[in-house]
Amino acid sequence: MPLRLPFHNTYAALPERFYARVAPTPVAAPALLRVNAALGEILGLDPEDLASPEGVAVLAGNRVPDGSAPLAMAYAGHQFGQFVPQLGDGRAILLGEVVGRDGLRRDLQLKGSGPTPFSRRGDGRAALGPVLREYLVSEAMAALGVPTTRSLAAVATGEAVRRETALPGAVLTRVAASHLRVGTFQYFAARGDVEGVRLLADHAIARHDPEAAGAEQPYRAFLEAVVERQAELVARWLLVGFIHGVMNTDNTAISGETIDYGPCAFMDAYDPATVFSSIDYMGRYAYGNQPRVAQWNLARLAEALLPLLDEDGEATVAMAQETLAGFGPRFEAAYLGGLRRKLGLATEREGDAALVQDLLRRMAENGADFTLTFRGLCDAALGPEGDAAPRALFAEPGAYDGWALSWRQRLAAEPVAPQHRRAAMQAVNPRFIPRNHRVEAALKAAIEEQDLGPFETLLDVLSRPYEDRPGLEGFALPPAPEERVRQTFC
Ligand code: AMP
Ligand code: MG
Ligand code: MG
Repeated sequence: MPLRLPFHNTYAALPERFYARVAPTPVAAPALLRVNAALGEILGLDPEDLASPEGVAVLAGNRVPDGSAPLAMAYAGHQFGQFVPQLGDGRAILLGEVVGRDGLRRDLQLKGSGPTPFSRRGDGRAALGPVLREYLVSEAMAALGVPTTRSLAAVATGEAVRRETALPGAVLTRVAASHLRVGTFQYFAARGDVEGVRLLADHAIARHDPEAAGAEQPYRAFLEAVVERQAELVARWLLVGFIHGVMNTDNTAISGETIDYGPCAFMDAYDPATVFSSIDYMGRYAYGNQPRVAQWNLARLAEALLPLLDEDGEATVAMAQETLAGFGPRFEAAYLGGLRRKLGLATEREGDAALVQDLLRRMAENGADFTLTFRGLCDAALGPEGDAAPRALFAEPGAYDGWALSWRQRLAAEPVAPQHRRAAMQAVNPRFIPRNHRVEAALKAAIEEQDLGPFETLLDVLSRPYEDRPGLEGFALPPAPEERVRQTFC
């Protein structure tokens, strides 16, 4: 059966200055490493077709499928606060859009598929390690319920990529609600191309916020919607201990999905100052800074949209500021709401924020593991018999006891039966996250021993993060001192 990829190409229908038309560069010896059958089904793509020689040729970039109008998108971006007027897809090529069985439209993009006019000094390629890393972490995020781009396939190229050393190359097929970024808007705004900004905003509204089109002020409604999605997204990140690592404006998706998995990482011991990214020297993108950074990035979007918001200068700036100011309350509500659920609180009470803050402070002071503390609280919610596991995570277990006392008093005011509460808590407090040491070990086996076994096992563990599964307990554990990963690389 020939591979059917019923592409739509709405982005390619935009004017030529929005992208560069470029086909993927074929690779020497494509070999399928992984295909995401479950995601294929959602997209309406037969996993067997994808895994066929013809499918693999498409996923490797060796064959441009019928109906595809391959292109590299133009965008700009603030990288660590510095504005770069032209970045663009330097190693990614958009094949087109597919409408899935669920009716949702998604981009199919090859990452690592060869040079484009935006490659600058880069080779347009991706190494196997980062490709498998993005596959693992993005799929883990999806299973955790966090909005994210996804991974449909990973293909080995049979070619080496030159980094500090020669590394095996690979291509990732990324699936996204879209690849529109804050930096895409900045690209046109920086050129004074107001018409470009407008066309892009209309495209984004049609794609992500069709209801904004009917609003009194469509572009303001659009900005509001993006602000809301980012506020919700960053709250979700904090609630699972995720650190993006490179929150540049070109890595901030308009869709509200997590995008661009480079040196991202999950926190083990709770500490808001945690940074893993080897390129984040100043800790700009530390765990606890992420809400502030997201708001800063949205301010850059608002600036780019200013010419569309209104004609009257000062009123427009005030309006944009007012819209941006919506971020704080929206984030706080999502974050506190999420923490309430993590603590088993179904109702809202005055002192809840203080109760949460008190726990987090004690966790930070005692190096308590973020994920295991909250997972441990699920059992502790049944009664003090369950205290042993979480309290052992605190350097000074008394710090837990003091807090647990006020938590139990607060739980006493809840209408929910303990068994139900425990189940509800287990549905929001994962047992399994992509621990850095596990991810690194899986990548090492794949790169150094061509053994994908550990990668497959880890992927399976992470596909059901909220379930206790006998035999997999070890995957839930934080690293032993000698296993600790201090830095992540992209
Ligand atoms: P990132 O840090 O992954 O968000 O990438 C920033 C910019 O660098 C984007 O424009 C990428 O397309 C580009 N880039 C990253 N790696 C490469 C590469 N190997 N070849 C060409 N461009 C690249
Ligand atoms: Mg990027
Ligand atoms: Mg990247």
